[in-house]
Amino acid sequence: TPPVRRHMERLAAEGIDVVRVTYPDLIGTERARDVLLDHLPSACDHGLAFCRAVYHTTPQGDVVPVTGGLDAGLPDICVRPDLDTLTPLPWEPGVATCLGDVTDPATGRPAPESPRDLLRAVLDRCGEHGLNPVVGPELEYFLCDADPGAPTGWRKYSDTQGVVYTAGLRADDDNHLLRTLRQLHAMNIGVSSGNHEFDGSQFEINLTHCDAMTAADRAFRFKSAVKELARKEGRLATFMAKPFNGAGGSGFHLHLSCTDDRGANAFDDPSAPYGLSTAGRHAVAGILAHAPALAALANPTVNSYKRFGPDTLAPWLVDWGLDNRSAMVRIPPERGAAARLELRLGDASANPYLLVAGTIAAALLGVLAGEEPPAPLEGYGYDTTKSPLLPMSLPAALDALEADTALTEVLGKDFTSSYLAYKRDEVERFQRHVTDWEFTEYAYHL
Ligand code: GLU
Ligand code: MG
Ligand code: MG
Repeated sequence: TPPVRRHMERLAAEGIDVVRVTYPDLIGTERARDVLLDHLPSACDHGLAFCRAVYHTTPQGDVVPVTGGLDAGLPDICVRPDLDTLTPLPWEPGVATCLGDVTDPATGRPAPESPRDLLRAVLDRCGEHGLNPVVGPELEYFLCDADPGAPTGWRKYSDTQGVVYTAGLRADDDNHLLRTLRQLHAMNIGVSSGNHEFDGSQFEINLTHCDAMTAADRAFRFKSAVKELARKEGRLATFMAKPFNGAGGSGFHLHLSCTDDRGANAFDDPSAPYGLSTAGRHAVAGILAHAPALAALANPTVNSYKRFGPDTLAPWLVDWGLDNRSAMVRIPPERGAAARLELRLGDASANPYLLVAGTIAAALLGVLAGEEPPAPLEGYGYDTTKSPLLPMSLPAALDALEADTALTEVLGKDFTSSYLAYKRDEVERFQRHVTDWEFTEYAYHL
């Protein structure tokens, strides 16, 4: 029996009649078609057609193509289900979901705006140098309840303060976290633990470390699943970087190490400075050197830059430190098989594929350049006399990405130009928009 038939028999026996085929678009939003089980062989043979465009969603919920297709008449891209990624959607009986691979039917090759293919290409480069990245994602998000009286229509699910690591009902009186953890576990996407974060209504869930592609796939599916589960309860889970004034932002920390061809941790070396191998130290130096450009991927929205700031536990400077949570790169205390770095730059709104690909590309460039990082930060990490500042706005980060030809060479020209066009359009729309803050600040006295 061909593999697709075997999958169909198994799915039918499990009561599945629909397969949701999804792929990440340029900004990491899930795009999907629900395919009846009988049509799965045809979807696998011919692929599913989607219109080729990069979209944004308006406040009215309309999906508008921004770039990458309209001038060419919105031609097709072709999405082929990857049946190895099939997993149930525990809260939607009868439905299983899988990821799809995106090709351009005109060339039969991966579409340049496909984030999975971009990551694949970066990982191939690492493979050429004998490095196999291992990635562990940590994501934070806020949970909101509908509030017709609020200007945005949403308020925080809970306003409790001082709740970091508060377990159970005192900070989460509807047991959102427990329910979410169990549903995610049933999806088999590597969820390991969850906790309440610093702010009321803010949660963190950790994914087990694994190879970089699986980690990005899992983080992508995790975000969709959390949003969908919240929606099922009439709530909104948001991974935007800084949804509320007076509360911290949501980070997307990335733990990174590499194994060598013998499976040993290539960042570990008990006899080297800081217990970090040459490759480990050079990877840190590469991430520092390319951080301003990396911010364009790790902090991809105009809102992202409102998360940065002194005393936020989000970074502010381009620096690294040994077990220092105020640094952009933290080296957690473990060594041996667990030797790794934690990049704290990313916020939860980042497209997981681009964050992972960009971080690994920067680390690889560091390994190839063979430069040592500066001395690690000691103590307080928000003193601007110690290290250079991160880009403080999306336009500044986009300019840094465009200027970083070493990084964009690894990421690819087609990707970079689509991404810059999309993001600069976002900046322009934001800059033309009059905000409530401006009215409050100026309308009365000017
Ligand atoms: N919420 C912080 C951030 O934006 C991180 C807090 C923590 O260390 O868990 O990155
Ligand atoms: Mg956290
Ligand atoms: Mg962390």
